[in-house]
Amino acid sequence: MTNKIPLAGVIGTPIAHSKSPEIHGYWLKKYNIAGAYIPMDVNTSNLKEVLKVLPKAGFVGVNITIPHKETVLELADLVTDRATLIGAANTLIFRKDGKIHADNTDGYGFLENLKSGAPNWNPSAGPATVLGAGGAARAVISSLLDSGVPEILLTNRTKIRAESLAENFGNRVKVIDWVQAGNILEGSALVVNTTALGMVGKKEMRIPLDGLSINTIVTDLVYTPLETDLLTTARQIGCVTIDGLGMLLHQAVPGFERWFGLRPTVDNDTRAIALQ
Ligand code: NAP
Repeated sequence: MTNKIPLAGVIGTPIAHSKSPEIHGYWLKKYNIAGAYIPMDVNTSNLKEVLKVLPKAGFVGVNITIPHKETVLELADLVTDRATLIGAANTLIFRKDGKIHADNTDGYGFLENLKSGAPNWNPSAGPATVLGAGGAARAVISSLLDSGVPEILLTNRTKIRAESLAENFGNRVKVIDWVQAGNILEGSALVVNTTALGMVGKKEMRIPLDGLSINTIVTDLVYTPLETDLLTTARQIGCVTIDGLGMLLHQAVPGFERWFGLRPTVDNDTRAIALQ
């Protein structure tokens, strides 16, 4: 036992927009844990040095965000299978033996949010459509395949990006032309938007949504706004809809548990804190 106060934080640049300090700070207070969670604006050129120093200053780990999620894999001593498959890490654990352990909890956060918003979701109910092929799509696809989704229809504006992503995941992932996106919704049990479309300051999604039915579950990773046009239309059709905020909250759970020794609950209060 030591009397040291465990420290954690989030590293990225820029970092001021991050909700993670509020979320972890809220849990530390709620569970009466003596610890702290600090936002750190660190350039790529300083990242290696900062990661070396932090454990000596009492840090037990950090979250990693844009633009360091890929770079950090090269700086870690141990990388989980899921972080390797996704090609990025968002959670680092500084072990007592001095080694840095890298994990990716985005897929976990996505699935937990999906299960909590659609408790009756059955992974084997049918194909899932994934819109977008960026970093977030990798985490989503990996977690859906792990859950037993039989087929993923992947479509992205830049087709070659979808094709190279699909290559990593085997023949359960099929690439569909972006112009065909509207046509694949009809047979899909689940539709996931992992593009930035619909986000404040970005373009609106223009995919025709008439293929959606009341049996389709629709989830959006975008959480600003909380209800995107995609979710509004899907809700009006009668689909179960799930916003992206829960993913952000749930991905924070495994890190908090490893660093501070208690598994926090994601509830309405946690959502309210993240929305402030
Ligand atoms: P990324 O790697 O930059 O990928 C962006 C994706 O959006 C790509 O598929 C890109 O297509 C597509 N896109 C961007 N502008 C487009 C346009 N005008 N038309 C069509 N497609 C467009 O970003 P990311 O990290 O995957 O994040 C994607 C979104 O997920 C962001 O909105 C992010 O905030 C959100 N996200 C949410 C959570 C959460 O916890 N809720 C976690 C991670 C990410 P191209 O390949 O053609 O450029």
